[in-house]
Amino acid sequence: MKQKRDCHHCEGKGYIKIRDCTGEIQREETCVFCRGNGKIFEKKEVKK
Ligand SMILES: [Zn+2]
Repeated sequence: MKQKRDCHHCEGKGYIKIRDCTGEIQREETCVFCRGNGKIFEKKEVKK
């Protein structure tokens, strides 16, 4: 079973903010974990 969940890397936004070492936001990048969807499919068959 596949489960749709909010991507926690980008908090469901689909992109992440890239910061430099001073903490200033440099640019926004498409989140690679959800590929910009903001949602991820998760396989969960762990329950026994
Ligand atoms: Zn994401």
